[in-house]
Amino acid sequence: MNDNNLRLDGNAAGGLLNEIFPFEMTAAQATCEGCGQISSIGELMLYGHGMGTILRCAGCDTALIRITHIRGSYRLDLSGMSCLRVAEEVH
Ligand SMILES: [Zn+2]
Repeated sequence: MNDNNLRLDGNAAGGLLNEIFPFEMTAAQATCEGCGQISSIGELMLYGHGMGTILRCAGCDTALIRITHIRGSYRLDLSGMSCLRVAEEVH
């Protein structure tokens, strides 16, 4: 058991994602590159680390989103995601 690793679900990353994306990112649908499973960002498994945040597929543990926040900018690695679908909404 490692107290430095905090595991939650993707909804807990909603506040952080909202600082980067101007829409409700937790409702967006992500397709996993590893197993093809489609899940909303809110359904992913969230791992918080000292260096950043990782959102993993609940089916196969592939890291779909990695977010690091360094010196005033966010860096996103979305390489584990083959598709991201965002529903159109009226702003
Ligand atoms: Zn997967």
